Amino acid sequence: ATEAEEKDLVIIGGGVAGYVAAIKAGQEGMKVTCIEKRGTLGGTCLNVGCIPSKSLLNNSHLYHQVLHDTKHRGIEVGDVKLNLEQLMKAKDLSVSGLTKGVEFLLKKNGVEYIKGTGTFKDEHTISVQLNDGGETSVVGKNILIATGSEATPFPGLEIDEKRVVTSTGAIALKEVPKKMLVIGGGIIGLEMASVWQRLGSDVTVVEYLDLIGGPGMDAEIAKASQKILKKQGISFKTNTKVLSGDTTGDQIKLEVEAAKGGKAETLEADVVLVAIGRRPYTGGLGLENVGVDVDERGRVVIDSEYRTKVPHIRCVGDVTFGPMLAHKAEEEAVAVVEYIKKGYGHVNYGCIPSVMYTFPEVAWVGQSEQELKKAGIKYRVGTFPFSANSRAKTNLDTDGMVKMLADPETDRLLGVHIIGPNAGEMIAEGTLALEYGASSEDIARTCHAHPTLAEAFKEAAMATHGKAIHF
Ligand code: FAD
Ligand code: NAD
Repeated sequence: ATEAEEKDLVIIGGGVAGYVAAIKAGQEGMKVTCIEKRGTLGGTCLNVGCIPSKSLLNNSHLYHQVLHDTKHRGIEVGDVKLNLEQLMKAKDLSVSGLTKGVEFLLKKNGVEYIKGTGTFKDEHTISVQLNDGGETSVVGKNILIATGSEATPFPGLEIDEKRVVTSTGAIALKEVPKKMLVIGGGIIGLEMASVWQRLGSDVTVVEYLDLIGGPGMDAEIAKASQKILKKQGISFKTNTKVLSGDTTGDQIKLEVEAAKGGKAETLEADVVLVAIGRRPYTGGLGLENVGVDVDERGRVVIDSEYRTKVPHIRCVGDVTFGPMLAHKAEEEAVAVVEYIKKGYGHVNYGCIPSVMYTFPEVAWVGQSEQELKKAGIKYRVGTFPFSANSRAKTNLDTDGMVKMLADPETDRLLGVHIIGPNAGEMIAEGTLALEYGASSEDIARTCHAHPTLAEAFKEAAMATHGKAIHF
């Protein structure tokens, strides 16, 4: 290729990591190409992850609330019916609106978007199998790997995305399964279990560990969440491992047994969701052609400036280290472009919030009690229940609490853990406080509007620093 044809940055993958890097680099005046094979931009998150799942969670919650939670509020409703086809159309509309919006943003920032599969030909050249047939190649001064992740399969259970599904099939079922089994009680398992249980399915979640919620969730909050979800009708089998599956009959059969040696039993269902985690995706990328390393879990190995062994080939998002979250991918995407353009960038990995969008939501940032204990760090705990918060009481949604952890000597905030209505929005305040190195007293002395759920956040800080007023 001639000098003129060489791009400043070629990005493989148009998910959150890839498209955000593309926009940022465009804004920085760089010549950018983004290669995406899916046919639409936005990756897992916009197409089959965050966005469609939240649409289903929102609307299934509304349906469930109208069915079961109106009478005592003084609202009498008539015949309530589920129109699953329309529910799915509403979801598809959110997805297509957002993915088209991203395409517009790439155009606006002068990014070349190629629909196809990118493969390393050499250290600067990516050959692209075009979706419409044919092949082309792009040359980049810098290359960014942003190829994301895929669902981890369960050995012996073949995914058909109809009866044995990953989250991708679970957000597109054509009818409500009578019985659904979920393997894995992490975030995907619990969000999807919530959707289908609300829509009428009899759902059982099988979790290997003694706690649901996946990695990072504070144990006290995880227990509270399980109790509430159980009350809503989801069944749990914790401390249970799935041995094998049989899909030959009308009903899918799963052989399970207690994690620490116990008697086996057979569970049956119409649909089985495999939600045991996700793994980095580098299929067809041709990493071997350039000698870029992956670790034992398939993650692309990088240094603190996102450089692989080949310094002008960098990598961000789900395909490398760290939590598999869209906002983490987004932070890294901005930082990596800053490293390329200016030589410095910044992501605070100690300050990345997590949210589980069940009802009530669970959200946290910073360290959990078990993490602090394990690290031998001393801490003070302050909690405040939503049952003592005026807004939660007026809304008749009082399940949950705010829990804060702070350093007993300096009072510096170490972690915030919330289970409750709107926890996912409220955690932004905790994240900001943690990022700014706030003490619990700083928060306790900050005026919060009344009546708001956020007052529970302030009162938990008061309880950490001294005493809450309303509890
Ligand atoms: P991806 O989004 O996976 O994007 C990578 C893209 O690269 C894909 O579109 C793929 O087609 C493309 N690609 C791969 N190889 C090639 C190639 N060789 N050539 C061209 N293109 C290629 N996170 C949250 O923060 N909040 C949530 O609420 C949330 N909900 C989720 C719900 C579900 C059901 C799932 C599955 C995930 C959810 N996540 C959520 C996680 C989130 O989707 C990911 O963290 C995020 O998508 C990671 O972005 P990424 O760009 O690194 O990877
Ligand atoms: P996860 O790692 O969160 O949870 C997987 C769960 O499955 C764990 O609790 C684990 O103990 C259990 N498990 C593993 N093997 C098992 C087995 N053989 N039998 C029974 N249980 C088993 O993974 P996930 O829920 O699949 O989610 C994948 C990724 O997607 C996560 O990184 C998550 O952060 C991300 N995601 C985020 C959101 C969100 O932010 N709201 C939503 C969905 C997905």
